[in-house]
Amino acid sequence: MNAASLLPEKISVVVPLFNEEAVLPQFHFRLLRVMDELASEYEIIYVDDGSRDRSLAVAHNLKAAEARVGIVELSRNFGKEAALTAGLDVASGDAVVIIDADLQDPPELIPSLIEKWREGFDVVYATRTSRDGESFLKKFTAHWFYRLMGKLSDTEIPADTGDFRVMSRRAVAALGQLREQHRFMKGLYAWIGFRQTAVLYRR
Ligand code: UDP
Ligand code: MG
Repeated sequence: MNAASLLPEKISVVVPLFNEEAVLPQFHFRLLRVMDELASEYEIIYVDDGSRDRSLAVAHNLKAAEARVGIVELSRNFGKEAALTAGLDVASGDAVVIIDADLQDPPELIPSLIEKWREGFDVVYATRTSRDGESFLKKFTAHWFYRLMGKLSDTEIPADTGDFRVMSRRAVAALGQLREQHRFMKGLYAWIGFRQTAVLYRR
């Protein structure tokens, strides 16, 4: 695909960072390769959630080399949900991607998520088809967590799904209206409604 054939839309990518200095450069260059193919206009927003390593300095170096990088610096570690909220608040794209920096979410899946968004879905989440490499305990606790949440709440939360997703501008705006202090993002994504769908991948 060449730049001329790309649609005139802006895509934001929000990446929460807590002590990710080791993996961040590799993540960044994999992400750039994907985004250059995908969008004529994009921004990458790194949210440093009070990292105690050099993540923030590394992010500033990446920004110095690439003008499409933005940085949000939190004053201490607030946790991933707060970091995501801070990133979503400043993201200005027509679509906003959320992805972890630790490469457990493959940047190469982003085009499949964006494709569904272009088809008209407001929320497209990445659902793992297998939990290879995760411990029995993690699988067991995850399974029961989703069973229990399903019983406690009317809002259905998709299983085997993290924060890795793309959301439309109006879905991000709806999420932004919810200002819970103790945010359970996966519950909030599901609660806002709109057309939502999954893209499956092997982790
Ligand atoms: N993260 C964060 N603040 C925290 C913990 C994690 O911003 O207090 C970031 C982390 O750098 C990564 C993402 O959130 O980009 C997911 O974190 P982690 O890999 O620890 O979570 P898991 O894979 O267990 O969901
Ligand atoms: Mg992780």
